[in-house]
Amino acid sequence: MRAYLDYNSTTPVDPEVLAAMLPFLAENFGNASSIHSPGQAARGAVDRARESVAALLGAKAGEIVFTSGGTEADNLALFGLVFALKTAQKHVITTAIEHHAVLNSCQELERQGIDVTFVPVGRDGIADPEDIRRALRPETVLISVMYANNELGTIQPVEEIGRIAAEADVYFHCDAVQAAGKLPLDVNRVGADLLSISAHKIYGPKGAGALYVRAGTPLAPQFHGGHHERDRRPGTENVPGIAGLGKAAELARVNVASEAKRVAELRDRLEESLLAAIPSIRVNGGAGHRVANTSNLAFSGAGGEALVIALDLQGIACSTGAACSSGAIEPSHVLLAIGLSADDARSSLRFSLGRHTTPEEIDYARSVIPAAVERLRSLSPHAVSTVAAR
Ligand code: PLP
Repeated sequence: MRAYLDYNSTTPVDPEVLAAMLPFLAENFGNASSIHSPGQAARGAVDRARESVAALLGAKAGEIVFTSGGTEADNLALFGLVFALKTAQKHVITTAIEHHAVLNSCQELERQGIDVTFVPVGRDGIADPEDIRRALRPETVLISVMYANNELGTIQPVEEIGRIAAEADVYFHCDAVQAAGKLPLDVNRVGADLLSISAHKIYGPKGAGALYVRAGTPLAPQFHGGHHERDRRPGTENVPGIAGLGKAAELARVNVASEAKRVAELRDRLEESLLAAIPSIRVNGGAGHRVANTSNLAFSGAGGEALVIALDLQGIACSTGAACSSGAIEPSHVLLAIGLSADDARSSLRFSLGRHTTPEEIDYARSVIPAAVERLRSLSPHAVSTVAAR
């Protein structure tokens, strides 16, 4: 038996998405910039995908810029906006729990002389809009806050933050990579001027994404080349990837509500049963305001990485928030930001469910995980304190 519980990391390509892509890898291989018929066939696919992504976001087709994924969309939003503005002093506000695509971009902005405020979040993994408001300065040009956190699933108060940005006449970028397909999206409701999505998180291919750019928002291209994407992102279009993103966006729009309901039931069944079966575990960020598919649990005293490997041996795919940098396991910046100790952060796992998760997979995971945690805790130097905590 196998259980893939790592959909926030990536999703399988939906068969309908694959079918929409294949012609553009084979017979319809034209360059979308060519004026002959093979080129026009490719152009048609790019145009249809643009309409479909715009429909998912409540945007106009001309406001969609295709990119190589969420990371590029985030980079284009941040550097593109900040460097398009000519004011002498610039200040950016973001949060401590952004994805590295935003966080590391903001650190690079700092190195380039831009002031950045990283607003902390509470134990609930949610940024307080009033903290964002208090961070505003006369020279603030941009607020960048994610919609749903990739590790915790927590939903940020983006509509309120969008209103704060509008009142202060500051641009608002929203990284909606983990919200797309999980929550209904509408750039006007959010008040976003810039919003990022990624195909491979919504059953599309890896290496394709899009940035919504509200009409009139200044944006300096970050690559230099031809006139593609209305001079906002040069480079021959990834036609199969874009066609796949278009189909994935269409499916996400149609399925979002029914999928969330089904997946929430499975996620809750898994979470409740682990909470009942395993002593001393906690839901990181709490079980409050979060997307339906994500459960991040702290298994104090059981090493997260060892647990991922032990579960993988039993066919269960899940992840730690931790990243391995220069050979050392760094605890997740998100888990540290919500107040976990480094040890607890290193003992946490994220389970993320999706379109193909079955009740049988969840039952299998429920039957395997408690014993794996028990075993690792008994081997851990923290085992004594864990037992004492029971
Ligand atoms: N933003 C968030 C919130 C993400 O979860 C991810 C991917 O994990 C990205 C951005 C980066 O997207 P991509 O993998 O398409 O570069």
